[in-house]
Parts: sequence; structure tokens; C-alpha cells
Amino acid sequence: MASVWLAVLALVLAGPVPSVLARAHWPQRVPRAAIVLWQAIALAAVLAAVGSALAAPEELLRALGPEERRGTPMVVAVAVAATLAGLIVLRLLGVLVMLAVRTRRRRSRHRDMVDLLDRAERSAAVGGIGAKTVLRVLDGAVPFAYCLPGRAPRVVVTDGALDTLDDEELRAVLAHEQAHLDARHDLVREGFVALHQAFPVLVRSRQARDAVGLLLEMLADDAGRARCSDAAMAGALEAFVATGDTEVAARLERVRARRCGGRALATGTYLVAAAVVVVPTVAVVIPWLSAALPAAGLLR
Ligand SMILES: [Zn+2]
Repeated sequence: MASVWLAVLALVLAGPVPSVLARAHWPQRVPRAAIVLWQAIALAAVLAAVGSALAAPEELLRALGPEERRGTPMVVAVAVAATLAGLIVLRLLGVLVMLAVRTRRRRSRHRDMVDLLDRAERSAAVGGIGAKTVLRVLDGAVPFAYCLPGRAPRVVVTDGALDTLDDEELRAVLAHEQAHLDARHDLVREGFVALHQAFPVLVRSRQARDAVGLLLEMLADDAGRARCSDAAMAGALEAFVATGDTEVAARLERVRARRCGGRALATGTYLVAAAVVVVPTVAVVIPWLSAALPAAGLLR
């Protein structure tokens, strides 16, 4: 039954759980802990899928009787289990590597482009923003800002942003982008994009990827708030919300409401994250191993 339980668990963690969590508002109060919870759910879903693939052939064999458990049938069962589990892991690793290579190649071209298009007099006027981070200013009336992570990080803002934001708001925006770069939020995001792409289309859901993306933005907003002020971060987001971005609207509402989670909520979220990974192992995998190993003659 372990294989069935684990398969059900993998499906629940891939579908209904992300759906409920993505609609909840409380994770926005503790974005860092909520991201860890999303990572725990993703890890537990993958472990459950791999565990189910490993357990299924052995359990089928055990249901047939003691004779079938020995010799060739057992070897076939182990080979099938290893192949199924290996396919899941290889698929995930393959997608991750491909995504990492493509992203870095695209980012490198993007970096060359912003270096070329930089309005040097304006970026020099703003000055340095971090030890390794270089600021680039692009032509454009629409205010926006983003960062390019990696070994030679860039923060890119438009003319429109510089013209719209006051000094304090600009500092909040730069602190927001620097927080993305320092904590390598791009790697967290990349993990969820890879997971999304690796899942079969039928059970694939964008909810985890999108929710984590928004939480990472909120985490960086908190860095801007801490470095400057709630008012400066809100003022900056007001300038960006004019572009019609609904995600920015949600972030602005959060900063205006000064939503910030208590320590108890964060601790509770971390505990749930640990339980999501540990409980299935203790409740399903260990009982399965304690039945499967003696049946295979590996443990008496
Ligand atoms: Zn951001």
C-alpha cells in the first residue's frame, strides 16, 4: 500500500495543496517562511513520486507470494523500480540543467545589451549601488526596474523611473533589486520553473511558480522597507503600478497595510515545512522498508 499512499501524496502535493496555499493571504505576512514551505512541498512531492515508483514493483511481487519473491522476479522488480525512479530524477535534473544553461546564455546576451544601451551620464549621476553591482539606465518613459543576477550583476532602471522616483524611493528600489541579487532569488525561482516544466502537462500547475515569484518580490520589498521606509517603498511601487501590473498592485497593498508577520506565524510555517518532508517518511516509507527488506531476505 505504500506505493499507493505515496502516489496519492505526490498528486495531492502537486495539485490541491498548491491550489489552497496559492489562494491564502497569510503567506504574504511571512514571505521567507512561506517560500521554505513551498520548497518543502515541492521536495516532498518529488520524494513521494520517487518513493511510489520504488515501492510499486516490490509490493506487487510481495502480494503474489513467497515463491515469486526470489530469483529472477525479484531482480526484474528491482530493475523496474530503479528505472521508474531514475526516470523521474533524470527528467527533473535534465530540465534543470537545460534551463540553467539557457537562462545563463540569455542573461549574458541581455547583460551585453544593457551595457551597450546604457545612458552613461545618468547611471554615473546615480552612482554605485553595491560592491559588485553595476547600474545601467535605459531610455524609456515607462518606469521600471529589474536586475540581472550572476557573476557580473546589473541593476537596470529606465529614464522614466529616475524621472518619477524621488531619491528615497529610488534607494528603496535599488535596495529591493540588491536583495534579489544578494539572496540569489533567481536560483529559487529557477528551481520552481524547472519543477513546473518537468511535471507532466496533465498535473502541471503554474500556481507554485507564480506564488513563489510573488513572495520573492515581497521579500525584496521588505529589504527596501528595512533599508529606507515603508513610505519610500510604497511611493516607488505607486510609480510602477501605473503600468497596470496586478502583481505590483498586490505588493503595494501589502506595503501600505504594513503587513508583517509575527515570529509565531513564521515559526509555525517552518515547523509545517519540516513536517511535510518528515511525516511521510516516518509514516509510510519506514513501515514499507521494514516489510520489504525482510521479504527480500535482506533483513531478518
Ligand atoms: Zn523584484
